[in-house]
Amino acid sequence: MGLNRLRNLRDRASIRSQLTILAGLLCIVTVAAVATTAAELAKRQVVRETEDSLVSVARAMAYRLDQHMFERFREIGNIASLEPLRPIWRGDVGNIRSVLRQLQKTLPIYTWIGFAMPDGIVKASTGGLLEGVSVSQRPWFQHGLKGATVEDVHDAKLLDKFLRTSADQAPFRFVDVAVPVYGPDNVLEGVLGAHLSWRWADEVRRSLLLEQRGSPDLELLVFGRDGKVLIGPETASLSPALVSKVQGSGGLPVFDGTGYVSGLVSTTGLGPYPGLGWIVMARRPVSSALAPADILFFTILAVGLAAAVAGVVLAWRLCDGALRPMKALSDDIDLIGQNPDVTTVRRHGGSRDVLKLSDAVRSLLWRLGVAREAEHQALEEVVRLETEVTQQARQNEDYRRDVDENLGRLKRLADTDALTGLLNRRALMPLGEAAMAAASPEHPPAVLMVDVDFFKRINDTCGHASGDRVIQFVGQTIRAGLRDRDHVARFGGEEFVALLDGVLPSEARALAERLRADIARTPVTTDGGTIPVTVSIGVAFARSGAGTFEAVLKRADDALYAAKAAGRDRVAVDGEDRHAFGA
Ligand code: GH3
Ligand code: MG
Ligand code: MG
Repeated sequence: MGLNRLRNLRDRASIRSQLTILAGLLCIVTVAAVATTAAELAKRQVVRETEDSLVSVARAMAYRLDQHMFERFREIGNIASLEPLRPIWRGDVGNIRSVLRQLQKTLPIYTWIGFAMPDGIVKASTGGLLEGVSVSQRPWFQHGLKGATVEDVHDAKLLDKFLRTSADQAPFRFVDVAVPVYGPDNVLEGVLGAHLSWRWADEVRRSLLLEQRGSPDLELLVFGRDGKVLIGPETASLSPALVSKVQGSGGLPVFDGTGYVSGLVSTTGLGPYPGLGWIVMARRPVSSALAPADILFFTILAVGLAAAVAGVVLAWRLCDGALRPMKALSDDIDLIGQNPDVTTVRRHGGSRDVLKLSDAVRSLLWRLGVAREAEHQALEEVVRLETEVTQQARQNEDYRRDVDENLGRLKRLADTDALTGLLNRRALMPLGEAAMAAASPEHPPAVLMVDVDFFKRINDTCGHASGDRVIQFVGQTIRAGLRDRDHVARFGGEEFVALLDGVLPSEARALAERLRADIARTPVTTDGGTIPVTVSIGVAFARSGAGTFEAVLKRADDALYAAKAAGRDRVAVDGEDRHAFGA
């Protein structure tokens, strides 16, 4: 699982779930640890006890085998050395046979008892079996000639064909006991030998198993000193190393992963019986031997799991109780987002942490409220200032317009002649300069200088008011006789200047003539009477390279002077211009 996915899971799970899962895991881990440890300790204990008891059982069996062999060994020895029997070994076969039969009756495991002469020929035996047959090659006979002997377990050889009734039957197995027999004069008479059916060992095993009924799965096996099995499953065997290890010990427990717990004990012999080094094994399957440990393990596990479940439930309920105030606080905070009228939360108790958290939230909300109030005030101030500035700007605009208007009015006043309403000299000058700057050679601006003839006389005879009326009349006539685009100014006294743009010199002269004629034709009616008025007009053109407007005015004035000198009520053109334009 990716780390991110784990984080997502954690984000989705409540604290209660997380703590409960944690508590559950803790309980389960604890229980598992305790159960496993206890099971391991119990297992060791059980194994040790099982091993001890198995070694005990094996020792008991080994002791019984030894004891039994010892008794047989002694019995045969006793018979051979009994003083009263000494003469019979030399005597009649029937007597010997009868003694041997008596002996066999005492213990049925004597399968065969026989007396062989020193040359190995069997003289007498139980059931007459093998009588007259040589046993000189049999180990029991060869060893028995020298002294009391015991021969280890082996299959029946010579007797097999007499004892086995069918080929399917398992071969007879014997342990042989043999002793030398001496006559009254201590002369060797032969060897007394007995074959003990190996079945007796199995009976010993059965009787021991019966005593151990508490362990129904207990098995007892016997191995020869060569490690081959004598009693038990044919596949079983012991390694030579293990054999020597067992023989060197008083009992050896083995728990080695073969599926069994075992106790091994070696037979050691008893008294004069030297023992054959058999090894007895008592064993139990591990599964059943360890059953008590398993029961303990599962019991602890079950109890522990019950405790874990109880722990989880308890953790769940504890978390529920501990986190309820937290949930109430979070619901309260939620309410702030939903309802604008709610601005704070209650103080929540239940634990120190929740109390602290709710106090922190309250102080945060309080500070937010203060900040919002300050922001609100600042906004209001901004709006107020904006309004003020707008009003101020609007006022300024009004002032500016007023000033512009007044300025315009003032300029017009400054540029206007009060008596005639025409331009004054100051206003005409820049217009004349501009017209000269833009002049074309074919259509040079024309300047007409008009002066009333003998005006002093009008003033003198009719009064200044009539003179003013005459001045107004002349101004109006000049204005009315020209186009709108032409400029007309009163230069002072009864003197006028007209600036005509875009006219041919001949047209300018004709215009001047017409003005003069218009004025001369119309006498002016004043309070002082009707006054005939004539004017003289000087004309000059603003030719290119003709210097300043002032110079053009001078030339017009010169032409006017010429007109006056020539008799008044006439038009005169500047001499140079006349020459240039032929006007
Ligand atoms: P001329 O034909 O040579 O021009 O003779 P004139 O009498 O007109 O001579 P001039 O132009 O020198 O005289 C102008 C007179 O105009 C002088 C002055 O008393 C008079 N005058 C100047 N300004 C005004 C004014 O505003 N009103 C009146 N009524 N008279 C004025
Ligand atoms: Mg004048
Ligand atoms: Mg005049």
